[in-house]
Amino acid sequence: MTKVNKHFEDLVPNYLFADIAKKTNAFMQENPDTKLIRLGIGDVTLPLAPVVVEAMKKGCDELGVKETFKGYPDYEGYAFLRDAISGYYKKLGADVSPDEILVNDGAKSDAGNIGDIFSQDNVILVTDPVYPVYVDSNIMAGRKILYADGTEENGFCALPDENVKADIIYLCSPNNPTGACYNRTQLKAWVDYANKNNSLIIYDAAYEAFIEEDDIPRSIMEIEGAKTCAIEMCSLSKTAGFTGTRCGYTVIPKELELDGTNIYKLWYRRLSTKFNGVSYPVQCAAAAVFSEEGQKQIKENISYYKENAKIIADTMDELGIKYTGGKNSPYIWLKCPNNMGSWEFFDYLLKEINVVGTPGEGFGKNGKGWFRLTSFGDRENTIEAMNRLKNLLKK
Ligand code: PLP
Repeated sequence: MTKVNKHFEDLVPNYLFADIAKKTNAFMQENPDTKLIRLGIGDVTLPLAPVVVEAMKKGCDELGVKETFKGYPDYEGYAFLRDAISGYYKKLGADVSPDEILVNDGAKSDAGNIGDIFSQDNVILVTDPVYPVYVDSNIMAGRKILYADGTEENGFCALPDENVKADIIYLCSPNNPTGACYNRTQLKAWVDYANKNNSLIIYDAAYEAFIEEDDIPRSIMEIEGAKTCAIEMCSLSKTAGFTGTRCGYTVIPKELELDGTNIYKLWYRRLSTKFNGVSYPVQCAAAAVFSEEGQKQIKENISYYKENAKIIADTMDELGIKYTGGKNSPYIWLKCPNNMGSWEFFDYLLKEINVVGTPGEGFGKNGKGWFRLTSFGDRENTIEAMNRLKNLLKK
């Protein structure tokens, strides 16, 4: 008899985006002439950089010629891309060699799959509010999950507690959804905790490209001691608009040993069994991101989103609304005014000013009463949404 994985029954149904769509669609049906502005989206809207598109086309052309045709790629990614990523880390001041980099089809896959190589009885620690993939993938595996509270008081940067013993810790900085970032001292505290307790940090740096302040590390590998306790997942999705193109990378230090086992080798074994690599044209496109011209071009898009974030953050300042993010992050995480609940504020904005955001409670209990706006929309709409908000709340 077939038996299914019953741990799936333990998943809390996450209807967040379905509920947002349902409410928005119902409103639009009743008010079809409304100009709705969506500031809830987590997807990018600007196109790929020209140099990236050229590299992808060139990669396709090479596949069409016998002499340059390529079959299965290397599991860990082509050396030309890993060299380029390693060079990028060098500029950040992190020593990451090409043979510590594994190219993938985006950070979500590795974040969701990395649990394959760890025993079921590991205790997991995530910060709350949280990117749901860390929680759901561990629930599917039947692991126990502890939560470190991100609150207004700690600026949504939960720190380690020596009384809480966790085996695997997920950290995300700049954070989705809160936009909060760990500074060097805070991240060092986590690294020290992990080394002391023989724990592993899984560090999600998907939004590192938005960091502008020197005191905020762009990689955990910049922190002393990280190589004996951390792996890092990064993505070109938000950095270079690859949400549809799909490419990311995971860094596993060669010296990382846990439970007497080399983690790179263990993950490589899993990878070579269940994954056949990223397509050649996509890896060509990804390598172009790290070229001098590529860096220049992607920074134009990032600056555009960051300017949107600033427009939103300035509006919060003007309205006296508390928030995190907005700087070093594409997300603005704001406290709903007048003690409104997240969904109450969602309904209020939809009905009164036709702006859609994301209720914070979809990301965990500490998201109650908070709300996420994103800077991935277009400039004109961002400005208009903020003008509408000012008019509404200043009434
Ligand atoms: N990690 C975080 C924190 C994210 O917010 C996202 C996407 O929104 C991802 C990872 C997924 O990235 P990718 O598109 O590379 O799978």
